[in-house]
Amino acid sequence: MESILNIRNVSKIYQSAGRELTVLDQINFSISAGSTVAITGPSGSGKTTLLGLCAGLDRASTGTVELKGIALENLSENERAAVRNQYVGFIFQNFQLLPTLTALENVMVPLELRGAKNIKAHALELLDKVGLADRAHHYPVQLSGGEQQRVSLARAFSNQPAILFADEPTGNLDAETSEKVIKLLFDLNKDAGTTLIIVTHDLELAARTARTIKIKGGAILSDENPAYA
Ligand code: ADP
Repeated sequence: MESILNIRNVSKIYQSAGRELTVLDQINFSISAGSTVAITGPSGSGKTTLLGLCAGLDRASTGTVELKGIALENLSENERAAVRNQYVGFIFQNFQLLPTLTALENVMVPLELRGAKNIKAHALELLDKVGLADRAHHYPVQLSGGEQQRVSLARAFSNQPAILFADEPTGNLDAETSEKVIKLLFDLNKDAGTTLIIVTHDLELAARTARTIKIKGGAILSDENPAYA
């Protein structure tokens, strides 16, 4: 199977109070297009940092991150943003909706960035898909946590990403809302073939993916089913 993400000898070192802090140490893995992968591990083990590097939100200190065959370390900030816009969706634990924009306008942002046509109609369709057509003109502060997360899903789906990264997508949600969000994610994988990479503490959610990568202290502790995913 074609691999969509190749991580080779990736380390991330932060400078903190005049000291070097190695947060990720020589990480290696490849992920096949269309697969579903969970990244688990204790708090502070480097999961969010790893996700950010894989998604091109941040840059590795050493090593190579290749997304869709594109080596991200050679790119400028703008070039990385263009790669993200074309291939990547990202869902944050705390939603990160723009507070001054309505639900609809939040979903329209990536479409505008891409210069898409019929932006409003398309954004409404996406909101309908996550069951929020009737909340289109609400601002984030007027929405529940579950609704905000579904808006952020609609926004992440809007560029039909080849790969979707989700950082604790259900971390702030009750069980029923979590299930809705998880179903939307897996439907996207099934229907559109979107590769899913999910950082989660939820072992039940991890068990539903084809592969689980466990991180501890910035290194891979175990990698279940690497050949399958
Ligand atoms: P996890 O997602 O597994 O909880 P993180 O990737 O958020 O872990 O953080 C891993 C480690 O890196 C933590 O010790 C955290 O304090 C540190 N860290 C994260 N971001 C920075 C930063 N910008 N500068 C310095 N240290 C950081």
